[in-house]
Amino acid sequence: MRFSSDLLEDIRNRCDIVDIISEYVHLKTAGKGFKGLCPFHGEKTPSFTVSPEKQLFHCFGCGEGGNVFNFLMKYEKLSFFEAVKMLAKKSGTLLPADEEKENFLDREKERLYKLNNLAANYYRECLSRTDQGKKVKNYFKKRGINDSSVEKYRLGYAPSSWDALTNFLKKKGYSYEELIKAGIIKKSKIEGNYIDCFRDRIIFPIFNLSGRVIGFGGRVLDNSLPKYINSPETLVYNKGSNLYSLNFAKEDIRKKNYLIVVEGYTDVLVTQQYEFHNVAASLGTALTTKQIDLIKRFTDTVLIAYDADSAGNMATLRSLDLLVKAGLNVKVIDLPQDYDPADFLIKKGGKPFQDLIERSFSLVDYKLKLLCSKYGIKSIEGKVKIIKEII
Ligand SMILES: [Zn+2]
Repeated sequence: MRFSSDLLEDIRNRCDIVDIISEYVHLKTAGKGFKGLCPFHGEKTPSFTVSPEKQLFHCFGCGEGGNVFNFLMKYEKLSFFEAVKMLAKKSGTLLPADEEKENFLDREKERLYKLNNLAANYYRECLSRTDQGKKVKNYFKKRGINDSSVEKYRLGYAPSSWDALTNFLKKKGYSYEELIKAGIIKKSKIEGNYIDCFRDRIIFPIFNLSGRVIGFGGRVLDNSLPKYINSPETLVYNKGSNLYSLNFAKEDIRKKNYLIVVEGYTDVLVTQQYEFHNVAASLGTALTTKQIDLIKRFTDTVLIAYDADSAGNMATLRSLDLLVKAGLNVKVIDLPQDYDPADFLIKKGGKPFQDLIERSFSLVDYKLKLLCSKYGIKSIEGKVKIIKEII
């Protein structure tokens, strides 16, 4: 299908290139235009420019350039048709009726979002209305998670039943096949039977950037294993390209111009309770390159606050290298040994945490500190080893 030049002109007029690109690249004013780190090649000094006057972008590093449609095609890997559609939707421009082309995939995704939303509501009901839900509330209290966080993050409880959620969603008109695709039920060992994936677990819904539920994390209430299980990859959930709570953090990240990255759900919940809203969790041990690309859309500065234990230290180092390679400024919040951000905030408070932020370590300082505690600086041998590894 072809679009008339009037229509394209109309969309371009309604979608300012600076607004659109700002959603993907952290732009700063530079002369008459804007500058930022190029999303199409790795760089440390911004050579990616956007001109509001010409409504064009251009990168002096890799030569990439064009108008707002070209940007979206390149960045989101869209066809011209899809880029036009996306901007038309954003700007409220009506496209010629094209019902047939309405993507089957879009409809399937939409149904998945709705299904996830229903499941999240169901889990929340179980938290507030069942006896078992009470022990979960006690757990929240013990971990310092307050009621407004429970509300905001839509925390819930999956009852210890084999098929409570399955039955609930079947009644809402979803098929077994859809529930499997959503990653919330699986085939049982008994032929023809299905069981809920999350049973007797605390539920943390996972949101995308627009705040829609795309998956779930489930934590046990005791010490049994596995401690956490997560939704599998689905049509709407790709674990490695999502950061937990980024949807809530966006605004504060832009305001403060940095993001605090923590390891898990509880760290996020507690940290934002202390008014550090610019926080998100990688939900794995180390950051992935896709997560880093996502971060670059909002800021060029990242503070890592992983658990201060050996696993956390290793994850920090791996993440740091990737972040530096991607051209971001990275620092490490140096928590006392065996603390995670949540413990620290609850025991010491917000002010000492702010102090840690201000005294955060650069990459070199952090590596030096780890090596010093590994080899010791008292002996000559220790010093030699440290010097060898740091350079
Ligand atoms: Zn470039």
